[in-house]
Amino acid sequence: MGRLRTIEDLGDLAGRRVFVRVDFNVPLENGQVADDTRIRAALPTIRELREAGSPLVLASHLGRPRGREVNELRMDPVARRLEELGGFEVGKMDGWIARPGEGEVVLLENLRFDPGEEGNDPRFARELASLADAYVGDAFGAAHRAHASVVGVARLLPNAAGRLMQREVEVLSRLLEGPERPFVAVLGGAKVSDKLAVIDALLDRVDAVLVGGAMAFTFLAAQGAETGDSLVERDHLDTVRAALDKAVRRGVVVVLPEDVVAAPEATADSRKETVPADRIPRGLKGLDVGPRTVEEFTRVLADARTVFWNGPMGVFELEPFALGTRGVAQAVAAASAFTVVGGGDSVAAVRKFGFEDSVDHLSTGGGASVEFLEGKALPGVAVLMEE
Ligand code: AMP
Repeated sequence: MGRLRTIEDLGDLAGRRVFVRVDFNVPLENGQVADDTRIRAALPTIRELREAGSPLVLASHLGRPRGREVNELRMDPVARRLEELGGFEVGKMDGWIARPGEGEVVLLENLRFDPGEEGNDPRFARELASLADAYVGDAFGAAHRAHASVVGVARLLPNAAGRLMQREVEVLSRLLEGPERPFVAVLGGAKVSDKLAVIDALLDRVDAVLVGGAMAFTFLAAQGAETGDSLVERDHLDTVRAALDKAVRRGVVVVLPEDVVAAPEATADSRKETVPADRIPRGLKGLDVGPRTVEEFTRVLADARTVFWNGPMGVFELEPFALGTRGVAQAVAAASAFTVVGGGDSVAAVRKFGFEDSVDHLSTGGGASVEFLEGKALPGVAVLMEE
């Protein structure tokens, strides 16, 4: 991998307008920002560029408007929260034209209202590039997308990574290049199909993989377990078997749940019971890993020197099925290892259970961190690298 250009590479920025691609794709509730983690994460770059004397054009996408204007997905609440957090004024634009003057910060409208953003349309890229003298890419969460504001604009201007992008790339590179061993990956979440590529890549790098979440049931089914009504992706049984074979060949330990918390439905008041993971009765779905599994995962994590965690262990949004995810969050936090958590849900879980100060790095990019660990070149990172 080449070297990532950083803000220093842009030279003296005084009076030069900078287009900053940030990741303000935050959850909204009743028109308010429900979680401002991503806005906070962008502040170091914004503050530094302001102090360097750059008028700033900030831009992000928000949700999935699919190339149309959607009133509920306007950036106004984001601009207000940024003002509160940053302590400076933010001019919210209604479109994508802005000419900020000295000391000014403007936030463009949701980039994905224009179909040119996701289409990486050169017209849209040129329009955005014409607003500034330099480009700073700080949207790690969008770096796996070859969109206009992520790659198109960067190519048209002197460009560099912002501080968040820089840290994400540094930390995740540390997992790819010579991590301290044992290196343990914890994977969970809903779909095994989303994670097959990262599982395959991780099997080349890690010493153990702990599998929880709904995806564990496809693994269990591949080994002939009775999975009751749990979510099993039958189309992927063969791929999962191939992954298990690869693990054996490479000497990677794959730890599947021993017990699971099962219920007829994923509801907060559902009757639940803990059952052996290989004998889940019909009529019940596995919705969380059980206490013995948490103990076993904790034991493996206690010996780890490097940990990567992506995906919750169960339906942690509902209290009766949150204990597995909580237990793993606690075990990751307690590990005397370099610990990285990637993915919206796992990061949210770490915060919800109060372990954020005990984890080395919470990645702001779910999909992006996973693709990075697959060893893929992310378009939004590659464009900021020296040839
Ligand atoms: P992902 O986006 O793939 O990381 O999946 C996150 C989602 O997986 C969360 O919303 C969880 O509620 C869900 N999930 C985790 N475990 C299970 C399970 N055993 N059954 C159904 N959904 C699950």
